[in-house]
Amino acid sequence: MQQEQACAYCHGALADQTVRHAVTFGRHVIVFTDVPARVCRQCSEPFFAGPVVDEMNRFAWNLGDSSNAPTGDLSVHVHRLGAAPAAA
Ligand SMILES: [Zn+2]
Repeated sequence: MQQEQACAYCHGALADQTVRHAVTFGRHVIVFTDVPARVCRQCSEPFFAGPVVDEMNRFAWNLGDSSNAPTGDLSVHVHRLGAAPAAA
């Protein structure tokens, strides 16, 4: 599999890193840590390889399995925003 060498959004250079990545799945928020990613040095957008995405999806689809017990917890605040503020 060929790796992308530039950010799809800003064309910045990518570097291999591990990141924290949060996804919403139904009424759950899942925070993955130590996720391998190619991260844009310019805009910080992370890009994930197919197998990494597959693994995160597999985890989300099997949330109820005992083998998927959380390894930590975070406080999550949910706020409903009203209408978008008018541009200045
Ligand atoms: Zn970028």
